[in-house]
Amino acid sequence: MMPLLEIDDLHVTYRGSRGAIPAVRGLSFSLEPGETLGLAGESGCGKSTVAAAVLRLLPAGTEVTGRIMLDGDDVLTMTFGKLRAVRWAGASIVFQGAMHSLNPVHRIGQQIAEPIILHEKLSHEAAEKRAVELMAQVGLPTWRARSYPHQLSGGQRQRVMIAMALACSPKLIIADEATTALDVMIQAQVLKLIKTLVAERDIGLVMISHDLSVLADTCRRLGVMYAGKLVEHGPSHEVFAAARHPYAQALSAAFPTVGDPAERRNPHGLAGDPPDPADLPTGCPFHPRCPVVMAECDSTTVELRPARPDWQAACLRVEDNSAPTSTTAMALGET
Ligand code: ADP
Ligand code: MG
Repeated sequence: MMPLLEIDDLHVTYRGSRGAIPAVRGLSFSLEPGETLGLAGESGCGKSTVAAAVLRLLPAGTEVTGRIMLDGDDVLTMTFGKLRAVRWAGASIVFQGAMHSLNPVHRIGQQIAEPIILHEKLSHEAAEKRAVELMAQVGLPTWRARSYPHQLSGGQRQRVMIAMALACSPKLIIADEATTALDVMIQAQVLKLIKTLVAERDIGLVMISHDLSVLADTCRRLGVMYAGKLVEHGPSHEVFAAARHPYAQALSAAFPTVGDPAERRNPHGLAGDPPDPADLPTGCPFHPRCPVVMAECDSTTVELRPARPDWQAACLRVEDNSAPTSTTAMALGET
């Protein structure tokens, strides 16, 4: 089967006032149709840059190398006409902060209908009928079609965004911190909704979050990013429970319980910040924060290596420690 999304050695370098900012530095993964992948990592690790690259939404002047194949089409070289079609029917993105992407002066039903009219060439009447159906599917009262964005709660607005993402029946949805701004109860509802909708329609899902527990609960596979690279990649429950890379271990220790509000605000066990991509440490970029750092970690570049079947991690310790590293994980949680 042809993968739905195939990213091969992606590098994305922004141009900043201080020079080059290598935000993504050699990232590869593929996603089968209907498969779900979570991308985790703290703020600044390059997650949103990957999402923007897939839909070619990066600022002009940004340098992109590597290959992104979406349903057999090469995203980086396709024409703008093709790209416009792909942006709705091929793949769509649900961002954080739905309020800012909804037009305050247009009614909800009209906004959901807009891409359908534009891309599926349906009449206004047919598109609005479809918009109302979509609203019902995402659990919004259909009379809300006549409401304006400010009349809806945060959770309802996020449902509108999901309805819009589904409007042209995409094969892939990228949800970038789509539930992060919501309170915990609503977050759980919206996550459940996304999970159900993608499963029912066989939609591929790339869900991005700094909260590993959310991803473990929603996605079959998990990729953990650090400083623009994947440092761990494997089956989500296993990675969440027994990560091999010390960064992934620290991240799962920081979010032990799905949707726990206290944990969300105050992740523990992870002191310091990820590095500035314009000023990366030598060797393994995590070594300055790593609780199990070794002498050679500041001088040795580590790529992803097999840890288990279907499971890779980029840590020098993975080689000599292919048995579960639960002692390290516990030590990390207690610091
Ligand atoms: P994440 O989504 O994981 O928080 P981002 O992909 O947003 O990470 O950002 C990765 C890095 O790229 C950060 O250091 C960020 O400051 C930088 N960056 C993001 N967008 C731009 C931009 N338009 N111009 C310059 N640097 C950017
Ligand atoms: Mg982001």
